[in-house]
Amino acid sequence: MHIELNSEEQAFREEVLEFLEQHLTPAVRRASRLSTGVFVDPPWSKEWHRALYEKGWITYAWPKEYGGCGWTPVQRYIYESEAARRGAPAVAPMGIGLVGPVICEYGSDWQKEYFLPRIRSGQDYWCQGFSEPGAGSDLSSLKTKAVRDGDDYVISGEKTWTTHAHFANMIFALVRTSREDRQQNGISFLLVDMDSPGVTVRPIITIAGEHEVNQVHFDNVRVPTRNLVGEEGKGWSYAKYLLEFERGGGAPSTRSRMALERYKTILRNEPGDTPGNRLIDEKDIQLRLGQLAARVVALETLDMRQVARRQAGGRPGTTASIVKTLGSELLQAIEKASMEALGPNGLPALTLDGPDFAVPNDTPLPEHGLAVAGRHLNGLAGTIFGGASEIQREIIAKELT
Ligand SMILES: Cc1cc2nc3c(=O)[nH]c(=O)nc-3n(C[C@H](O)[C@H](O)[C@H](O)COP(=O)(O)OP(=O)(O)OC[C@H]3O[C@@H](n4cnc5c(N)ncnc54)[C@H](O)[C@@H]3O)c2cc1C
Repeated sequence: MHIELNSEEQAFREEVLEFLEQHLTPAVRRASRLSTGVFVDPPWSKEWHRALYEKGWITYAWPKEYGGCGWTPVQRYIYESEAARRGAPAVAPMGIGLVGPVICEYGSDWQKEYFLPRIRSGQDYWCQGFSEPGAGSDLSSLKTKAVRDGDDYVISGEKTWTTHAHFANMIFALVRTSREDRQQNGISFLLVDMDSPGVTVRPIITIAGEHEVNQVHFDNVRVPTRNLVGEEGKGWSYAKYLLEFERGGGAPSTRSRMALERYKTILRNEPGDTPGNRLIDEKDIQLRLGQLAARVVALETLDMRQVARRQAGGRPGTTASIVKTLGSELLQAIEKASMEALGPNGLPALTLDGPDFAVPNDTPLPEHGLAVAGRHLNGLAGTIFGGASEIQREIIAKELT
């Protein structure tokens, strides 16, 4: 999307480009391009986190008093779109984008002093313990319980689909501290050290054969009461606040923009049906590309609107659900088109994994074909996690009727 920049914004854009040029290493960009999961794995994501932290930009969207940059909506858009265009990875949002804003808004003074600097520096790596077997869309039916015992809560139960729990040293968890008539009441929001005795992490292997999500078991895990966010029993309202950021935080269009650029690279490098043509020269492909590109621009516009609302002090609200739904469905459409462009040649990429994204020597795949199948398969979850599309549509419909 093109927007007219004034001279200050132009200068800011130059600064962003210079920073990206200097700090976005080829290794980080390649990891970002080849990553098939929701987030790029550490250590690359941590390397990028570190660079942003040192520049003072890691928590640009937080309130200024807690380390935010006070950027205007246009500055945020400039940073997010330029970073995406140049292949920067999304920073894992569980700390910066989810629990961070909740602590800023509802945390105690101690929690702010202790956790916020550790989130900013990347010292703590967080995961999100909301979903349980039997409590996904119907999240408030969760059963993991926490019983008060002196200065501790004692947690027992099971969380599931916990992204990156195997990397995390902290988890924010919704737990039931009392049974009430309304199941949304009696839920509390706890910050739990993953090294606490009684925490066990078990892998769940995704459809693409990768380890990204986990089960997390709590077996009488003791958590100090000072790790309770806000009031006991009020966790549901903090969770709802967090979910707005999960669905609408950052700029979801950047993922689609990056996927579109990767799709174009495939089209420029794969042969078309007409002899001598590349795929990108074929009329039907151009039509499909044009339709996808128009959807990306529309999503960027919605993103801008949302950023403006948040910058003015508003919350993401229902727009978050609209952006989440459109964004995840668009991403799937681009990944599907990419897979179809490659055809069966994309399939060996299923074996890609490991610390260096090492490509087996006998692979016939060119660089632009790597990870396409993995992204297409793992991407099927995009319309499920963070609230399934059907649920989002219900939220949107309620707002409109
Ligand atoms: C890859 C991945 C990563 C995830 N990461 C995390 C994480 O880090 N932390 C975390 O806490 N959770 C995580 N989740 C869990 C995610 O939030 C849930 O999967 C999601 O909320 C859906 O819940 P469910 O899987 O129990 O499906 P269900 O709720 O059982 O839904 C199954 C289907 O039924 C539909 N459905 C359900 N209720 C309704 C209704 N009322 N009306 C219409 N349709 C309905 C849904 O839309 C869906 O299509 C992750 C999930 C995935 C797949």
